[in-house]
Amino acid sequence: MQIVKIEVGDMLELKKPHPCGERIFKVLRIGSDVRIVCQNCGRDLTLDRIKLEKSIKKFLNRDL
Ligand SMILES: [Zn+2]
Repeated sequence: MQIVKIEVGDMLELKKPHPCGERIFKVLRIGSDVRIVCQNCGRDLTLDRIKLEKSIKKFLNRDL
């Protein structure tokens, strides 16, 4: 998909699920790394921004 700007509060569906099985994450903080929180187990994780952008399947809060 095209590269789009991630914003705080975005709800992301990722191609790779969290170990708990959830694929939906919410964006908490953005810098060179992006912090996201799993919407099932509530754990947060920090990912490299470029890697995260590549692993996004879709934005659930946007019409893309
Ligand atoms: Zn999880």
